[in-house]
Amino acid sequence: MEQGQLDSLRNALEEERRSVDRQLAEHGSPADSETVEVDVDEGFADSAHATAERSQTLALVDQLHGHRREIDAALARMDDGVYGKCEKCGQDIPFERLEARPTATLCVSCKQAGAA
Ligand SMILES: [Zn+2]
Repeated sequence: MEQGQLDSLRNALEEERRSVDRQLAEHGSPADSETVEVDVDEGFADSAHATAERSQTLALVDQLHGHRREIDAALARMDDGVYGKCEKCGQDIPFERLEARPTATLCVSCKQAGAA
């Protein structure tokens, strides 16, 4: 991969991490905290609606934390100089795939083999 391509993917990852951090902060769960604290309006705490909303938020926050870990792992791989290699077969992952999904750790064929 060319340095320019790597740089643009790094920028994309860092931008994505900032966006995830913003969303986590909005949901009251800062990125450096693994515990999930969701504020629930006291008056509605017992209603089914609030419960549903709370579990939806928890699921979203959980997803965001997971995504953030993927981004951090991708940036760490860049620092180690192993970014863009398939974790399974060691082949280079095509730039087009990384551009669409910078956190990808598998090439398309390994991904498909794993999903099947
Ligand atoms: Zn592969």
